[in-house]
Amino acid sequence: MKKLWNTITEHIVAPTQLTGDQVLGLLTPIGRSVHMRRHAASVIIARVQLISALFALLVPLWSVVDLLVFDMRTAIWLVLLRLVSAAVFVGLAWPREVSPSRPYTQAVIMLLIMLMVPPTFYLVSLQIIDASALNDSQRLVMQLYTFMPTIVLGGLAIFPLTALEILLLSVPVLGIAVTGMLSGGAELVLDQHGATLWFMLMMMGVAMFSGMSQSHYMESLVYKAMTDPLTGAYTRRSGTEALELMFRLSSMSGKPLAVAFFDLDHFKSLNDAYGHDAGDQALCTLVTRLRETLRRGDVLVRWGGEEFIAVLPEMPADQMPAFLKRLREAGFGRRPDGSPLTASIGVAESLQDRVLDWTELVELADQRMYVAKHGGRDRAVLPGDLTVMLGVPATAAIPTAASAG
Ligand code: GH3
Ligand code: MG
Ligand code: MG
Repeated sequence: MKKLWNTITEHIVAPTQLTGDQVLGLLTPIGRSVHMRRHAASVIIARVQLISALFALLVPLWSVVDLLVFDMRTAIWLVLLRLVSAAVFVGLAWPREVSPSRPYTQAVIMLLIMLMVPPTFYLVSLQIIDASALNDSQRLVMQLYTFMPTIVLGGLAIFPLTALEILLLSVPVLGIAVTGMLSGGAELVLDQHGATLWFMLMMMGVAMFSGMSQSHYMESLVYKAMTDPLTGAYTRRSGTEALELMFRLSSMSGKPLAVAFFDLDHFKSLNDAYGHDAGDQALCTLVTRLRETLRRGDVLVRWGGEEFIAVLPEMPADQMPAFLKRLREAGFGRRPDGSPLTASIGVAESLQDRVLDWTELVELADQRMYVAKHGGRDRAVLPGDLTVMLGVPATAAIPTAASAG
C-alpha cells in the first residue's frame, strides 16, 4: 500500500515523496508558514497582473467582432461593457507593491476580482443580447460568451493554490454561471446546461490537481532555496528576510520580538578531536533539539558556522527565563565523549531594549552572547544584563565506552 502511495506521489504528483502532512498542506492553506504564504502571494499577484495586462488589450479588441455581428444598439452596449471590463483589468495590471503585512489577502482579492470579470460579463451580456432572435453567427458568439465561466475555472490551474482555495474561488463563478443559465438560458435546452455544468466541474478538478502540483513544486523549491542543506535551519539570507518582515509586523502591532543568539562552546575542539563529520552530526542534533523547544511561529536561522539565531515573535523579556528553562531541559545534544554540548546565548527584545530596527536587535543579542562567552560560557545574558546560568548538568552525561569500561 505504502509502495503504491509512493509510486503515485513520486511519479504522478511530483518527483519527490510526500508525507501525510505535506498532502494536508496541499489540500488547505491552513498552517502554511508566513514565508510560504508570502511567496505564494507574490506568485499569484504577478500572474494576475500579467493576465490582466493581456486581457486589458484583448477584451476591447474583440469589439470588432461585436460590431460586425450584432445590430448597432446591441453592439454599442457590448463595446461599453468591454471598456468597463478592460478598465478593471487595467486597474489590476497597474504596477503595485506587494503588501508587507497582508500579501495573501491582497493576492486573493486581486485574483477574485479578475475571476469575476468574465462571468459578470457573461451575465450582463445575457441582458443585452436578445437571445430569442439570433442568426447563426450571433448564436455562435453568444455561445462563446456562455463559455466564459468555464474558461475562468480552467484558468485557475495556473495559480499555486490549494484544493480548498480553488473550491472556494470556484463557488462564485459557478454561482454566476448557474444564475445565467436560469435567467437567460430559456433558449438553451436542459441537456446543454447539464453538459456545461459537467464540463465546469471537470475544469475545476483539473485546476485543483494542477494548483496542488504547482503549490508543491513551488514549496519544495522555496524550501530548498531557503534552508541550509546540512541542518535544515533557515539560511542567513532567508533568515534575514524573515527577520525583517517579523520586525516590521511586530513594530506595527506593538508586540515584542525577541532574538536569541547561540554560539556553541568549544566547538572547534569537537571537530579537532572527532573530525568534521562528528561536528556536522552535532550541529544537526542541536537543530533538532532547538526545534523541539521552539514554538510553531518561531524561526531558526543558521547565522554562521556554529552560530544560530532564534527569532521569537511575541516573546516578552519576562517569559525568557521559562524559555531558557525549556532549552536547558532539552539540552543541545552531546559530544561524542558523552559530555553535554553547551552554548553561550545572548538575548535581545525589541520593546525592552528599545531598538529601532532588526539589525540593532541582532547586534545587541550578539554582544550579549560575547558577554556570556567571556563570563565563562554555558549561560545566557538577557536584556538588563541579567545572566542566567544554563548549567546543562554534566552528571547526566551518557558514559562513553571508555569511561564505562
Ligand atoms: P567558543 O565559541 O567557545 O569560543 O569556541 P569555539 O571553538 O566554538 O570557537 P568558534 O566559535 O570561533 O569556532 C567555530 C568553529 O566551528 C570553527 C569550525 O571548526 C566549526 N565549524 C563551523 N562551521 C562548521 C560546520 O559546518 N561543520 C563543522 N563540523 N564545524 C564547523
Ligand atoms: Mg562561533
Ligand atoms: Mg563557538
